[in-house]
Order: sequence, then C-alpha cells, then structure tokens
Amino acid sequence: MKLLLASGNAKKRAEIEALLTPLDIEVLAANARSPLPEVIEDQPTFAGNAAKKAQSAALFARSWALADDSGLEVDCLGGAPGVLSARFGGIHGDDARNNALLLERLRQVPTGQRGARFVCALALARPDGSLALAVQGLARGTIAHAPRGTNDFGYDPLFEFDEPGFAQAGKTFAELSREAKAEVSHRGRALRALAQQLQSLRV
Ligand code: IMP
Repeated sequence: MKLLLASGNAKKRAEIEALLTPLDIEVLAANARSPLPEVIEDQPTFAGNAAKKAQSAALFARSWALADDSGLEVDCLGGAPGVLSARFGGIHGDDARNNALLLERLRQVPTGQRGARFVCALALARPDGSLALAVQGLARGTIAHAPRGTNDFGYDPLFEFDEPGFAQAGKTFAELSREAKAEVSHRGRALRALAQQLQSLRV
C-alpha cells in the first residue's frame, strides 16, 4: 500500500516512516516540486485538523493520504497550548520560542502540578477524499523545570514521560532514542492503532 503523507514536518515524517515501512506501507511525501495545497488548521480539535489535512491531500493527489495533527496539553493551563502547540510562541514551528514561553507560564508551578499529555490524531483519507480511519494516541508526562536531552523536536526536551511501569519513565522524550520514544509516544501509539485497523481496509 502507498500512502501520501500530508505533513511538511521532517521529524514527524521520519517517525511515521519508521513505523509504517516494516508493515509494507510505502510512505510518499510531498516535495518542493509538487507541494500540497496550504490547509488552514482552524479546527478546535486535533482530530478535526488531521481529517481536514488528510482529506485535502487525498483529493488533491487522488491517492490515499495520511495526516497527523498533534500537540501538548498542559493540565494547569486548561489544556493549552493544545491545537495551537506549533505556534504557541507566536511563530509557527519555532520550537525554542514555544518552549521558552511554556517554561515562563509554568515558572511558579510546583513539580506536582505540572502534569501534561501529548496527543496525536491520525486521519487516513481515501483517494475520493472521504475519511477512512481516525485514531488517537496519548502519552502522559510532567513538564520539566528546564530542558533535558537533544534528540528530536518540539516540546520533547521539556516533556518528562511519567507513566509507571515503563523503562522510559523519568526521561524526557529528548533523552530517548527514536525507537524508545516510539514505544511509548502518542504518535507511536496512534500509528500502532492505525496499523491494526488498516488490516481491515486492505484492498
Ligand atoms: P502540527 O504540525 O500542527 O501537528 O503541530 C504539532 C506541534 O506540536 C509541533 O510543532 C510540536 O511543537 C508539538 N509536537 C507534536 N508532537 C510532538 C512530539 O512528538 N514531540 C514534541 N513536540 C511535539
């Protein structure tokens, strides 16, 4: 099966490819010569934005298309930055600004009240633009007082995974290898749920 990935984020793409390629799913990416049309991510939920991106890409390319919409929800901020995660600091995709603002907002918040979760919504659309599958994955953690680790992207250096019973607990996502992160991450969990449901769709 071939899937067009409706995402310009190279880090996300690498994580998704690593998990789908062993399942015999070829992940195709848009490139500079044939870019996908811009999609305004204006839906109030991750699932809504993922569906919008997948359906737009599928219709444009007349192929199966997969989209990921994901972000961080911090308990004491009422779920912010949520769907605005990529542009929390004002500039889309500026991880350093986003992380600095998050630390600033939580400056007075003690360790026990810094709970958060990562959310990943995946949507798969058919070549006719209809929605075939929608799944979601979650990972629970705590926002650290300072960044730790250099792997990966976004809020990873501030997100200390804390689900009990996992070897990864106590580490930020940026301190984990790609494989160790994928075992417990919101995206890894969503992709495994998607892979399971894909079996029933195979044509
Ligand atoms: P999207 O591209 O609109 O889905 O924005 C996702 C944003 O959420 C990214 O810019 C990151 O700031 C954040 N994010 C999503 N997934 C991850 C992850 O696995 N690690 C770190 N940050 C993430």
